[in-house]
Amino acid sequence: MNSQPTILLNDGNKIPQVGLGVYLTPSSETAPVVKTAIEAGYRQVDTASIYANEAGVGDGVAASGIAREEIYLTTKLWNEEQGFDSTLKAFDASLARMRLGYLDLYLIHWPSPHRGRYVETWKALVRLKEEGRVRSIGVSNFAAEHLDRIIGETGVVPALNQVELHPRFQQGELRALHDKLGVVTQSWSPLGQGTLLADPVIASIADKHSRTPAQVIVRWHIDLGLVVIPKSATASRIRENIDVFDFRLDAADLAAIGRLDSSGGRIGPNPLTATF
Ligand code: NAD
Repeated sequence: MNSQPTILLNDGNKIPQVGLGVYLTPSSETAPVVKTAIEAGYRQVDTASIYANEAGVGDGVAASGIAREEIYLTTKLWNEEQGFDSTLKAFDASLARMRLGYLDLYLIHWPSPHRGRYVETWKALVRLKEEGRVRSIGVSNFAAEHLDRIIGETGVVPALNQVELHPRFQQGELRALHDKLGVVTQSWSPLGQGTLLADPVIASIADKHSRTPAQVIVRWHIDLGLVVIPKSATASRIRENIDVFDFRLDAADLAAIGRLDSSGGRIGPNPLTATF
């Protein structure tokens, strides 16, 4: 599935539009899950140091037989490790666990504003990119005010912001800001952690196209130009979630899914008030 689309980042690098999320994938299962995904055509994997399965991701890539350069790998700096020197150290530890010589994308996992350290943390990511140890740098769960601050203080615009985004929480305002700034939007919990799969609107669109609800939702993210990282540890679902390149949603489908957006649709923590 090397024909899957890629999205151009503001630093000239490209990211495959569909990736595998491995949040809550047990570390002992991660290597076979990642290998299965690569065999199914995935070329992007999203992990984080807090997921405690970075080693499994590295092992899965090594076991796949596909060259490391063909696979796009992301990990994230955990909140407690924020700070300039501590970030550089945490990056080294992640790379060592994944057994990689370089990383494709390193993200600040949460702004964690109560710590007051995300600007110096961003400066450390800028250093890592300058040193060539990571190809692209970005953030996760950053709201407008956090983006404004890091860009204002460093002049470096993140390549990507990974945020909660699914049909019930569509992040229209933040996406418009990203477009203005040249930041790519990546959707976490793209299936609403599975809660959207029984939605009747999604189900009727799935019936219409003879596809599954998960495929309709992944396709919705693709049609909106987002980078999407559905999670599954089940081989059949892993394959199903990337088998989305031979159909498109029409304007009526997109309008119907657009109406699922809800002010109360957020599932995860609000980055402005989270205290972890
Ligand atoms: P998701 O929306 O991808 O939903 C995953 C769940 O949906 C699975 O556990 C399974 O129960 C179900 N599912 C998946 N495919 C299915 C299918 N084909 N049929 C039926 N059920 C299916 O939720 P997620 O894991 O929270 O998010 C995806 C990824 O996003 C994570 O694994 C992680 O990599 C990333 N993430 C990042 C952050 C962050 O703060 N940056 C937070 C949460 C998740």
